[in-house]
Amino acid sequence: MNTEFNNLINNIKKCQICREKFGFEPHPVCFGNVNAKIVQISQAPSATVYKTLKPFTDQSGKKLKYEWYNIDDVDFYNPNNFYITSLAHCYPGKDKNGNDRVPPKICYDTWLKKELELINNKIYIIIGAKAAKVFFPKELFNELVFKNNYINGKIAIVLPHPSPLNIKWFKDNPDFLEKRLLEIRKIIENTLKS
Ligand code: SF4
Repeated sequence: MNTEFNNLINNIKKCQICREKFGFEPHPVCFGNVNAKIVQISQAPSATVYKTLKPFTDQSGKKLKYEWYNIDDVDFYNPNNFYITSLAHCYPGKDKNGNDRVPPKICYDTWLKKELELINNKIYIIIGAKAAKVFFPKELFNELVFKNNYINGKIAIVLPHPSPLNIKWFKDNPDFLEKRLLEIRKIIENTLKS
């Protein structure tokens, strides 16, 4: 199984499927081991991560790691703790309005489905409404955030996007930072200790 997983990761890292669509060289990013305790799935790497090639080395990452999870880089980038992946493994560029393009679905179908079949994790963390929609298409995002959900019988925490642009959501949902985040932190802490 490790060989199959390692081959998969090597193929993801070499992937250039979206090159023409993007109009620039794709930089696929994923990180972690097959037995990582937590599988974290977000939308797509940011423009900063396109350069650093290391996930969550941007403003969103600072908030996620240091404020929400309350862990340092040693624990976050321990490949036995987190397997960090996304609906699309590459920064997809901007659309004509200057917004990040929608993550190409072909990446989920080609790579993410296989990653999730092989990884032997304990819990999932799903970041952002776009990723939540893929795993829980019939449920409301705000309801998903405030309860424990399940994928393959394992807890799946759903988080709002930690982007500094997501200000309105936090203003409208103060219970996330004041209450729900404390429960989520506990689940993460217990999972990493197990
Ligand atoms: S987004 Fe996914 S499918 Fe597209 S080039 Fe990157 S790794 Fe390949």
